[in-house]
Amino acid sequence: MLNLVLFGPPGAGKGTQSERLMQRYGLVHLSTGDIFRHHLKQETELGKLAKTYIDQGHLVPDTVTVSMLKSAVLEQNSPNGFIFDGFPRTTPQAAALDRLLLELNTDITLMLGLEVEEEELKMRLKNRATASGRSDDADPQIIANRIAVYNRETAPVKDFYAAQQKFVAIDGTGSLDSVTERLFAAIDSRT
Ligand code: ADP
Repeated sequence: MLNLVLFGPPGAGKGTQSERLMQRYGLVHLSTGDIFRHHLKQETELGKLAKTYIDQGHLVPDTVTVSMLKSAVLEQNSPNGFIFDGFPRTTPQAAALDRLLLELNTDITLMLGLEVEEEELKMRLKNRATASGRSDDADPQIIANRIAVYNRETAPVKDFYAAQQKFVAIDGTGSLDSVTERLFAAIDSRT
């Protein structure tokens, strides 16, 4: 299996690039943000719980997120592999993902970290708010919270994969196509 983690701060382009990786390598794309938004829309119990965190720009608690992700993985019938987008976002989530994949006799192949500087991120999120209708993109205070949470809780996940020699940094600036080319090249040279 080819199992990729696409990593990077809010607005780095994970969603867009995941779609392209999914198509090229025939992977299942699992975005915890998308799954949460689906629950929000359906107003499920999980959605109502997640909303209280998402609206503040905080992380949904690990126990909730991990069990949701586990079900989504186990639901798949002999997939070629996964692209994890927006997960793992904390070191305990990364450890839980390793355990889950071990049960399936597989592991993470590579973590691809999209790097974009903070001013550019803020600009992208502001622009995206109009198109996405996401309330967490519309408020500069919430955006600042998300970036702070990223720096504090999520950035260390990079070290978790670097320790396994699985982390690759990718320049996330320039055209969408040029970022895609960099991702393809990094994957193809490692597999
Ligand atoms: P972005 O990458 O633009 O911040 P996402 O769509 O990945 O957006 O996530 C939106 C929100 O959903 C996050 O701010 C967080 O509240 C919640 N969320 C998504 N993934 C996770 C996760 N792995 N752990 C905890 N909370 C999460």
